[in-house]
Amino acid sequence: MFAKTALQTAVRTSARGMATRTPIVGGNWKCNAGNGITNGDVTALVDGLNALPAPKCEVYIAPPSLYLKDVKASAKSHFNVSAQNTWKLTKGAYTGEVSPEMLLDSNIEWTLIGHSERRDIFGEDDALLGEKIAHCQSLGLNVVACLGEHLPAREAGKYMDSLIPNLQAICNNVTDWSKVVIAYEPVWAIGTGVVATPEQAQGTNAEIRQWIAANVSAEVADGVRIQYGGSVNDKNCDELAACPDIDGFLVGGACLKADSFGVILNAFK
Ligand code: PGA
Repeated sequence: MFAKTALQTAVRTSARGMATRTPIVGGNWKCNAGNGITNGDVTALVDGLNALPAPKCEVYIAPPSLYLKDVKASAKSHFNVSAQNTWKLTKGAYTGEVSPEMLLDSNIEWTLIGHSERRDIFGEDDALLGEKIAHCQSLGLNVVACLGEHLPAREAGKYMDSLIPNLQAICNNVTDWSKVVIAYEPVWAIGTGVVATPEQAQGTNAEIRQWIAANVSAEVADGVRIQYGGSVNDKNCDELAACPDIDGFLVGGACLKADSFGVILNAFK
């Protein structure tokens, strides 16, 4: 267990004294059909997830869009099903996109927005992500809004300078905080096996919460769930889950094996 700083103690006390945040864990399959590339691999992973004991936390799983409806139909109802991305408009000449209206019409009530791979590989910026969030909010689609700094910002101790524009774009476009989860995912920890230490993850989540308190409201900061993501696995999840400002995880690689994901879900008992 990590040594508690004064900041962490204060936040833990305030978390106890005020809102109770239900932990939430997400599984981001990325461009993987379960643990492989076929419909059979999707079925195998869903079968494995369905065999797990019912989790004590809230859960969402985010398969590639092609499989959303199948997974929704076959996964047990405690698994919310989430898109990995959506578009900022309803319909039209936007090749390759799926709109929030289409998701909702298919009973998909969640979407990730602004994952670092969308930002870094597909060039999505805060302005576009803000527009997407605003459109999702107007429809009541649940959004997991992702943000995270790159390694140089972390090494220079300037990670909040990198996160604040992301936070601003998110907060400027939210009207209903009950439909928003924030996922703090340092880019240097995603898919690298280099997990943030509990001190780094707890400390940054607490700073994000403080920024929201100062720039939105204390009530929103107290109630919003802030996940940590980046190389979470069945070995490191317990220590991270014990941190007072880590309200859940966004899991990539380790969510593709039902047994590992089950251990991670169990970290929030
Ligand atoms: P990882 O991915 O768990 O494989 O690091 C996390 C994510 O990208 O959401």
